[in-house]
Amino acid sequence: MYADTISAIATPPGDGGIGIVRLSGPDAARIAGALFRRAGRTAPADVARLRSHHLYFGHVVDPATGHVIDEVMLARMGAPRSYTREDVVEIHCHGGLLPVREVQRLVLAHGARQAEPGEFTLRAFLNGRVDLSRAEAVMAVVSARTPRSLELAVDELRGRLTGRLAPARAALIDALAYLDASADFPEDEVPPLDLDSTLRRARDGLSAVIASTRLGILYREGVQIAIVGRPNVGKSSLLNALLRSERAIVTEVAGTTRDVISESINLHGIPATLLDTAGIGETEDVIERMGVDRSRRALDAAPLALFVLDGSTPPTRDDLHVAEHLRARAVGEDHGLVIVVNKRDLPERHEHREVRRLLPAAPVVEISTRTGDGIDRLEQALHDLLLARSGAAEQPALVTLRQQDALRRAYDAVGAALDAIGAGIPLDLTAVDVRDALFALGEITGEQVSETLLDEIFSRFCIGK
Ligand code: GDP
Repeated sequence: MYADTISAIATPPGDGGIGIVRLSGPDAARIAGALFRRAGRTAPADVARLRSHHLYFGHVVDPATGHVIDEVMLARMGAPRSYTREDVVEIHCHGGLLPVREVQRLVLAHGARQAEPGEFTLRAFLNGRVDLSRAEAVMAVVSARTPRSLELAVDELRGRLTGRLAPARAALIDALAYLDASADFPEDEVPPLDLDSTLRRARDGLSAVIASTRLGILYREGVQIAIVGRPNVGKSSLLNALLRSERAIVTEVAGTTRDVISESINLHGIPATLLDTAGIGETEDVIERMGVDRSRRALDAAPLALFVLDGSTPPTRDDLHVAEHLRARAVGEDHGLVIVVNKRDLPERHEHREVRRLLPAAPVVEISTRTGDGIDRLEQALHDLLLARSGAAEQPALVTLRQQDALRRAYDAVGAALDAIGAGIPLDLTAVDVRDALFALGEITGEQVSETLLDEIFSRFCIGK
């Protein structure tokens, strides 16, 4: 438990129905009591004796001037039944910046310290109420971008990641116990253990979690999708159709989209950023050239591309040029591609077989941005492709990049231990790898973490969380 009492405005800035000032620490009740008058009473309230987890109606009064600052509701959550496991007091003021700020100012003047970002959750973690992956999930809740991301974050709050890691962790502890015992005691005194299969069990457990995290990262971080194709095939129109709005300028003149336009959509729960690029075909126009260079860069950075063709005209040299570029890009790299044949509302139909032959692995979707036909199918195809690429067999697990990095290190360390056994390397050296793996897992669940790491994680929270 901490000696000092922290306080912060716990609601977002700006106008709202209510604004909440939250205090946590041993002096929370004393500080709140100095400012709070229950309705119909003149003496300061003895907040420490108010019933825990009940709301009390009254006023916040500046003791120095006797001025009423705001009409409020006050709740005390007595330790340990609170978010931080410390004494917590919440003062619910009227929304709007002024009353909350004024109350927070008075709270600070009476001995509380302004909370650092994430400090409430840090205390919850350090007081043992949540483990580290749950604490980090709170942050994901705060910054979730789609309802699906939020759902996953809330799940994670229930400690799912820690639970999922438990089998791998248990196997590693078995292995380490065996290795340590073998180093200290004669062979016949150590209970036998199939080290190889125990470590394999740990590795399989970790690889399942890693597979599911890729999907979790997709849901939270989202994905960039480049829309490419020669001028006038309907890229901007497709962007608009996907956005169902009119962000990009559509014109009859070829090559009008001179810059990369980026917009976000919610693709069945995956936050996707669409990049509309200028035609990649050769061009003489200098300004357009700049757009072309930029679109090449955008394309090379985006993990997924929509290659748009005009289904009402025969393929041109530029179409094949773009196809060649996409083919070169696909080689050896993890880039996804969907071929979109547009303008299917027009009577003339071309199948673009040459292009399909150059890119045989890419799924083809026929659409008309004019009638909207096929847009749903395209969204579905994109969604399916993204899930397939992320290993969607598992229920997604929501992890931060830091957690994913730790998972990866744990996995690599188990692999090294298995290699060591295979190569007949002495057991005490194998123990080092197993210990590394456990240490990496500890970074996720928070069983062993350094001070600086904690600071780094919790500084990314909102103040008041
Ligand atoms: P971009 O240069 O590839 O971005 O192409 P635009 O989106 O600017 O479209 C070029 C032209 O094709 C415009 O005149 C659009 O109205 C037209 N167009 C786009 N999609 C369709 C479609 O599905 N059907 C028809 N008939 N015309 C389309």
